[in-house]
Amino acid sequence: MELNKGENIVNKNNTSKSAVIVGASLSGLMAAIALARAGLQVTLLERAGAKPRSGAVLQVDSGDMDRTVTAQVLRKLASGGVKSVEAWSSVESRLYAEAKANPGIDLHYDSGVHAVDQDVEAAWVVTNRGEKYYGDILIGADGHRSTVRRHVAPHKPNATFAGYMIWVALVEEKDIPEEHRPTLNAPRVAMPDGIGDFLLGSIVAGTDGSYAPGYRRLGWAWYDNSRNDLLRRLGCVEGNVVRHSLNAADIPEETLIELAKQASVRWPEPWLAAILHSIHTRNLIGTPIAEYVPDTLVKGRIAIVGDAAHVLTPLTASGFNSSLQDAATLADCVAEGIQGTKGAEALLEYESKRLKGVRQIVQSGQSFSRTFGR
Ligand SMILES: Cc1cc2nc3c(=O)[nH]c(=O)nc-3n(C[C@H](O)[C@H](O)[C@H](O)COP(=O)(O)OP(=O)(O)OC[C@H]3O[C@@H](n4cnc5c(N)ncnc54)[C@H](O)[C@@H]3O)c2cc1C
Repeated sequence: MELNKGENIVNKNNTSKSAVIVGASLSGLMAAIALARAGLQVTLLERAGAKPRSGAVLQVDSGDMDRTVTAQVLRKLASGGVKSVEAWSSVESRLYAEAKANPGIDLHYDSGVHAVDQDVEAAWVVTNRGEKYYGDILIGADGHRSTVRRHVAPHKPNATFAGYMIWVALVEEKDIPEEHRPTLNAPRVAMPDGIGDFLLGSIVAGTDGSYAPGYRRLGWAWYDNSRNDLLRRLGCVEGNVVRHSLNAADIPEETLIELAKQASVRWPEPWLAAILHSIHTRNLIGTPIAEYVPDTLVKGRIAIVGDAAHVLTPLTASGFNSSLQDAATLADCVAEGIQGTKGAEALLEYESKRLKGVRQIVQSGQSFSRTFGR
């Protein structure tokens, strides 16, 4: 293993049973917690900084399908006992707190990985700071534009654009006019009909966990197939590859004006008030939807989990739940040991347990994308 100039070996031979995980969002955090529970020393590397990040809402399933103790433990940690739609940040902060407190997990922010490789003894990454981290196994939890996937599946490195985007936001209930707020018993999830478009609205607890009127939050996701030209013009989509989301600051003013006009004729209250508030305060994000049906999840000592492994339309509401099953299955497969040839064998077992199922989930969402996407 030759070191390039400027590279530092950080944890070579540090431990006899170790994993490096790239990406510390939900999949990476769950994989780290599960692998640490299986007795591995985990190094978790995240490109973003340590400051809290926010998302919109996430569906955490009830866990009826959880077949292993590891899956049950992860679900309990992630959900805090809530079996419904939740603010993304609530799930993330619980998993983060657990990972941070776990002595078996070494978490590094501002550590973007730009190269991964392996030989018969180990797998390793090189970060943009020139640090080199080794593990018996290496896990890519680095999302839909995964760097690790390029190593695992060089013949099929990219997720492809599904032909539409979603606008998403999370709004404090107190910020919308009182007369438009949902009633106390309003359903937590709604799918109002629009003119050819599709909206998913959800009512989630406030930051203090309260569902009291005035303290809740309204999440909305507006499926929009009419702005693909804008996404291409702004570089969010290039060819059939999604490059990045459209951040609030970069949304052209005229697009916001058009969205407000369309929303006013399309969506009922309380969603209309929530959408208009998001538009007026530029508190929304446009996400081009990508999809990826994997052919493989593993190469030697390196595996992919979560959105790095399978990217599905959010309409399936299965991204988080599939990631949880990936993490739990992976940990159960490595429990017997990962040294020497056992590392690659354990990962092959993970692939054999997960590949068929995750392919089917992505494909089930593709039937919606084929009719809605352009
Ligand atoms: C900030 C944020 C908000 C989100 N909000 C929602 C939401 O509201 N609703 C919803 O349904 N889904 C949301 N998602 C997506 C959802 O979390 C995922 O679909 C699902 O949980 C599986 O995610 P993942 O961890 O596999 O991938 P991702 O969530 O994409 O996380 C990948 C992580 O890897 C890091 N990373 C990428 N490349 C590198 C690299 N080279 N080196 C080191 N680190 C790298 C990224 O910074 C990121 O933290 C959000 C994701 C993020 C990151």
